[in-house]
Amino acid sequence: MTAKILDGKGLAQEIRAEIKVEVKKFIEENDIQPTLAVVLVGNNEASKVYVRNKERACNEAGLKSLIFRLPAETSSKELLELVRKLNADASIHGILVQLPLPKGIDEKLILDAIDPEKDVDCFHPENVGLVSQGRPRFLPCTPYGIQQMLIRYGIETVGKRVVVIGRSDIVGKPMGMLLLQKGIGGDATVTICHSRTANLVEIAKQADVLVAAIGKAEFVTADMIKPGAVVVDVGMNKIKKDIVDENGEKKLVDKLVGDVDFNGVKEVAGWLTPVPGGVGPLTVAMLLKNALTGAKRQAAK
Ligand code: NAP
Repeated sequence: MTAKILDGKGLAQEIRAEIKVEVKKFIEENDIQPTLAVVLVGNNEASKVYVRNKERACNEAGLKSLIFRLPAETSSKELLELVRKLNADASIHGILVQLPLPKGIDEKLILDAIDPEKDVDCFHPENVGLVSQGRPRFLPCTPYGIQQMLIRYGIETVGKRVVVIGRSDIVGKPMGMLLLQKGIGGDATVTICHSRTANLVEIAKQADVLVAAIGKAEFVTADMIKPGAVVVDVGMNKIKKDIVDENGEKKLVDKLVGDVDFNGVKEVAGWLTPVPGGVGPLTVAMLLKNALTGAKRQAAK
């Protein structure tokens, strides 16, 4: 079997085009431009790229983005002051603090300080609680994107066995929670695995839908997959890989790979997301959606 590709990049473009239409309508009706504030602290190169991508995506969809770049030496107190200022600014509808924060900054303290009504990453305990109760204000971007992908590809989750590998607050736990909820894109029987899980291979092999959010390059191999399963690869891992270039010479190059051994797993799975071009673009699309939701909620008050 050769798995069909779940084209996250293409789908994200579609979703972003839909959001652009919604944003235009919202601006016409309310005379307010939905605005996302993004806070970047320090010099993490990957974070700089993510922030640039988010800024570009906002601009393309008609949202305003305000980027606040702070030096790595910023203290928790200074960052807290900025967050409070952004909370109080009615022209800002979403606040995102790019992670990871430099060592020495209390991440929990900062994320908990973001106004839950502007918490577009859906990290605030109040928003996490609302998601788990099935009455979300915002949905966490990466799991939200994955759920949309399953829905839009017509992949049924009701009654299906879903296995999520990874229990982070950003991906694994909220992913399990969304797929567990009643309704469209939910109603699955969910198992969340982690580094202490016994018999991981056997459990993974029972999955109709397997979500890998581990952070270990090509960890999920073909022997862990039920034939025909849907495999969603959240991982983004930079590795060095030997390639043979067009002149037949061997070279060591940087490569972005997922948590799934794509070439092996594609022979067993029914559906598979690529890396890059799978989950990543959807995460950005759903961030725009959340920023628009923030603006709509604020306007409705
Ligand atoms: P994380 O916080 O490091 O969590 C990794 C999870 O994997 C943990 O729960 C850990 O278990 C589990 N794990 C580690 N080794 C394992 C093993 N041998 N067997 C079973 N479980 C194991 O990572 P994250 O933030 O969730 O991110 C996961 C990956 O997704 C990373 O590659 C990240 O870059 C990527 N990511 C991508 C996007 C996107 O938009 N595409 C968004 C977010 C993250 P313990 O809890 O027991 O330690």
